[in-house]
Amino acid sequence: MQNIQMVDLISQYKKIKDEIDKEIFSVIDSAKFIKGPVVTEFQDNLAAYLNAKHVIACGNGTDALQIALMALDLKPGDEVITSDFTFIATVEVIALLGLKPVLVDVYPDTFTLDIEQLEKAVTSKTKAIIPVHLFGQAADMDKINAIAQKHNLFVIEDTAQALGAEYFFNNEKQKLGTIGDIGCTSFFPSKNLGTFGDGGALFTNNDALAEKIRSITNHGMKVRYYHDYIGVNSRLDSLHAAILKVKLKYLDQYNAARKQAADYYDQAFEKCKHLIIPARNKKSSHIFHQYTLQLKNADRAALIEHLKSKNIPAMIYYPVPLHKQKAYSHYKFNDHDFPVTNKLSETVFSLPMHTELTKEQQDYIIENVLTYLS
Ligand SMILES: *Cc1c(COP(=O)(O)O)cnc(C)c1O
Repeated sequence: MQNIQMVDLISQYKKIKDEIDKEIFSVIDSAKFIKGPVVTEFQDNLAAYLNAKHVIACGNGTDALQIALMALDLKPGDEVITSDFTFIATVEVIALLGLKPVLVDVYPDTFTLDIEQLEKAVTSKTKAIIPVHLFGQAADMDKINAIAQKHNLFVIEDTAQALGAEYFFNNEKQKLGTIGDIGCTSFFPSKNLGTFGDGGALFTNNDALAEKIRSITNHGMKVRYYHDYIGVNSRLDSLHAAILKVKLKYLDQYNAARKQAADYYDQAFEKCKHLIIPARNKKSSHIFHQYTLQLKNADRAALIEHLKSKNIPAMIYYPVPLHKQKAYSHYKFNDHDFPVTNKLSETVFSLPMHTELTKEQQDYIIENVLTYLS
């Protein structure tokens, strides 16, 4: 049996090596490393896949979130609401721009924004909500959009972990990232659509926002050397666009493989009294960026240590709620506002989840987890 990894990018690459290598060398031969035609081609392909009017690539997912906020004309002190249980990037960019991050607790089963808490957090200074589609499934977008509409707020979806997942409206399906005003994603290597380095993108159906976002990613220019906005330099290199163009064709297949692996874990773990399997909400598909269990009445550190001794990696996403992070202590968040995130940070753990997991590997993981907990 091959070594088990959290994410196996080498085996995935080997299967499409010829196609990827050909695209990489074609960029090298062209020497069009920045803003090459393949960047436009990839943006167009992703726009068609998502059914989004505009896709604007950028340097990474954190930049995408920052650029989205920069495009909204917010003033220092304006409030932006997001989840307490997410990767730091989401809150980092709010703070960096001099805006005020307002954190909200999550649901204990889906780990996405608690809508009741969200509504309570809205004030006259609130300007935007950043729902995070954590671990591959959607936050409650119809309710979030309704709250946004009622209070005239922007919605920026953090789709870094959920690219390709779908939301089910009455009779329609819509890709996550295209439901709010702006969607943001990351092409970090381990994401569901990952490149061989850093990359990111923004999506929107709003022409004016798209034009501004495009300009901000390029130093605030529309016409060369005429700067209309304070911008940044955040680009997707042609080499990454070439790699992503190939991998986009396989994204649905990759997400299906993750889902299948998740189903297999679910069946094995659902009867274990020490484990809560990841909930699936009824409103979206779940593409399992992570397979995250909650542990009950057992020592998490000891379990992870045991698995490590059997060469099974396991990770904790995320061990510290955002409201407890040292760098953000001056916002004086109230610990009592976050009972769910506090508990999750002590009980969750994620098992290996990727497109190349074999039944043999999963059986070995499952057996070791269940034997330890029995
Ligand atoms: C990965 C990630 C980001 C940031 O993406 P980078 O490309 O690493 O900057 C933002 N939000 C979430 C939820 C993520 O998982």
